Amino acid sequence: MANGNSATLTRRYNRTVVLDALRRHGSLSRIELARLSGLTPQGIRNIIEDLIDTGLVRETGRRRGLRGQPQIDIEINPGAGYCLGLHVASGLCHAIATDLAGNVLARPEARAFGGDHGQQLDALGAIARTVDAAAGGLPRLGTGVVVSRPLASRWSAAGGLADAQADFAKPFEALFASAPLVFENDANAAAMAEYTHGRAKGRGDFLYLFLGEGVGGAIVQGGVPMHGGRGNAGEFGHILIDPRGAPCHCGNRGCLHGYLALDGLRPLLPAGAMLAQDNLPQAWLDGAASALSRALVSLENIFDPQAIVLGGTAPAWLLHRLVETMGDPGPSVRSDVAEPGIEVSGLGQSCALIGAAALPLLALTSPDPATLMKEPSAETAAE
Ligand SMILES: [Zn+2]
Repeated sequence: MANGNSATLTRRYNRTVVLDALRRHGSLSRIELARLSGLTPQGIRNIIEDLIDTGLVRETGRRRGLRGQPQIDIEINPGAGYCLGLHVASGLCHAIATDLAGNVLARPEARAFGGDHGQQLDALGAIARTVDAAAGGLPRLGTGVVVSRPLASRWSAAGGLADAQADFAKPFEALFASAPLVFENDANAAAMAEYTHGRAKGRGDFLYLFLGEGVGGAIVQGGVPMHGGRGNAGEFGHILIDPRGAPCHCGNRGCLHGYLALDGLRPLLPAGAMLAQDNLPQAWLDGAASALSRALVSLENIFDPQAIVLGGTAPAWLLHRLVETMGDPGPSVRSDVAEPGIEVSGLGQSCALIGAAALPLLALTSPDPATLMKEPSAETAAE
């Protein structure tokens, strides 16, 4: 690796270290940034000057320092640009545009998404024009695309997507590849929404349980969702609860899915009735809460999370009823430590879409040591 390239990659990495600290802490002085990052005060001054020039961060005001010297707080500039989130599910593409603080700038109506490459480009192009207009000239800083199935890789540019996924990625790459473009499954995206704007903010090691028609989840370690060898990590729905239980579509018996998933609850409702607070069968609720409690003991013991967040497309009242019914989770080997318990998400049923918009923000502000090992490229050589 040539020295010039090495210095460029190090500078780029250090910039993400500073942005990461600002995203997690809100606002910090230059002195605090130096202490948190381990970078020299001069290095921090250079990076901040550079980031202010690009508009990504701003000075927010003065506060009195420890020795009476006023310190200027730095924060990420929410209006530096916008992040586009897309969620493709059931033949529709939902979209949301947020600023860097997660405030919603636009949420156009979902568009039909299917057909051939040209039709998909048309749908995405219409979405892009709508959000560009609503964002009032702010640059698009990145795009997150979320699908309700496992993905082998979160990066389109890494070439790690399997063939079928590469075809899926093509129209998105054609329109949105000029800034970070991130692909993710719905449970991982919803977890990253919690990490960025929700219950897990500031807590890099946590579990996310996604309850909808099925049961999924995310294992987040150091602020990064685990994908596993084939993109299937976090399938909490197939934790075995009772080996003599009902057969599961995965081939086993008595999986958590059978107790908790909404697709198993609907047939228990009165004929033709929609799920509502006053027709939730008590027997289902008791069984679901008991199974969830058992699953959480195992998860807690295996992963030692700072938090467990329950969310998904299930209505919030149902998530709260489950947690209330569950009561105290069973014993774990960590019973000497305060239980993290389980917290219900406050992000609502669009959590995966909100997460889609959080993905490019995280891509821009998360230090990735792998970038330090990159081969010199034409792009870095030109800097
Ligand atoms: Zn199963």
